Amino acid sequence: MLVSAKEMLNKARQGKYAVGQFNINNLEWTKAILLTAQENNSPVILGVSEGAAKYMGGFDTVVGMVNGLLKGLNITVPVALHIDHGSYDGAIKAMEAGFSSIMFDGSHYPFEENIAKTKEIVELAHSKGISVEAEVGSIGGEEDGVVGAGEVADPQECKAISELGIDFLAAGIGNIHGKYPENWAGLNFEVLGKINEATGDMPLVLHGGSGIPEEMIKEAISLGVAKINVNTECQVVFAEATRKYIEEGKDLQGKGFDPRKLLAPGVDAIKECVKEKMELFGSINQA
Ligand SMILES: [Zn+2]
Repeated sequence: MLVSAKEMLNKARQGKYAVGQFNINNLEWTKAILLTAQENNSPVILGVSEGAAKYMGGFDTVVGMVNGLLKGLNITVPVALHIDHGSYDGAIKAMEAGFSSIMFDGSHYPFEENIAKTKEIVELAHSKGISVEAEVGSIGGEEDGVVGAGEVADPQECKAISELGIDFLAAGIGNIHGKYPENWAGLNFEVLGKINEATGDMPLVLHGGSGIPEEMIKEAISLGVAKINVNTECQVVFAEATRKYIEEGKDLQGKGFDPRKLLAPGVDAIKECVKEKMELFGSINQA
């Protein structure tokens, strides 16, 4: 059964480890992540962007698939199904479909509007036992033309939004979605320290977790990060493994064209990638 992410993240924050959010794109992705979590006795969060949900046929399809896999694969570790960067309407639709956790990303609204909308979402979600991640917008970052600095949040805005009753908070600390540029300045631990102080024991969320050096991940966890989002890295290893299979001509041998064979190396690559992240984040045997 799907659970809210509140309890697993509070536990992670107290225990100084982080739970990975791994974004899913299809059945293979979902199976690979769930099996890895079960094999390593780790809690896990399945992230679904609105675009990915649409690709898979809508929120109901995603909920049906995930619930079916939990049952069919005997998954007993805590699993949350979370909408990633949800819009106001998207977050509401995901809740209606049976998601157990949502992110409402109002970071592009003026701050007052972000606060007002986040508050409404929190009330609705909590009436159904669903956890809520909010995000505050960035300050600076590209003001000086330095793209490599990423987005940085204002600790006072983080404090204001954390007081709305949200369950965990995404705040920019120089992290970037997708592949990191060569000139990336690294995570801003000074700002993370301030956000951590301003928000009490709120679990913090690090987006763009693919490609951040290990020492930085560990330091971020020591400063209150309890959820780390990984997406790009799984996509890259899946593509690499699939490319290798085809370049080696394996799809032309025997029944190598069978999708269950064709996609198997990619699935194994995702499993390996997810396990490495769980080890790094410290979530193994924390289920
Ligand atoms: Zn994100």
